[in-house]
Amino acid sequence: MSLDLGNLDELYYKLLERAYKIVTPKIQRRQEIPKLKVVVMPKRTIIQNFKEISERLNRDPTHIAKFFLKELAVPGHIEGNQFVIYAERSPRILEAVYERYIKFYVICPVCNSIDTILERQGRIYVLKCTACGATTPRKAI
Ligand SMILES: [Zn+2]
Repeated sequence: MSLDLGNLDELYYKLLERAYKIVTPKIQRRQEIPKLKVVVMPKRTIIQNFKEISERLNRDPTHIAKFFLKELAVPGHIEGNQFVIYAERSPRILEAVYERYIKFYVICPVCNSIDTILERQGRIYVLKCTACGATTPRKAI
């Protein structure tokens, strides 16, 4: 039996090509998540594009706000398109909180898609992925 290396090469490139097709859209999707626009003022920190973020992530703005306030342990409220936090916090800290929210309540842990739905089921939430169909239980805030 002889090994046809020509065919193996072809197979390898086909697999590589397929892997690229699977991986690339996910990376592009991740870039669709808007960055926070933060303004730090004396005793106030404002996320200016809060409404845009909640719309893009397809999440209830009050749910995102609740997560931020709990993580930061400070009060705040939603005001029109903005989210006002009653404390001075650096954009870097807010970005870290935002990342945690996305990781926990937006991204599907099975396929990394951001096309998910968050449903309340009694005392917990269920993250449902519209891409792969996975359902993941999540703690309420
Ligand atoms: Zn998924």
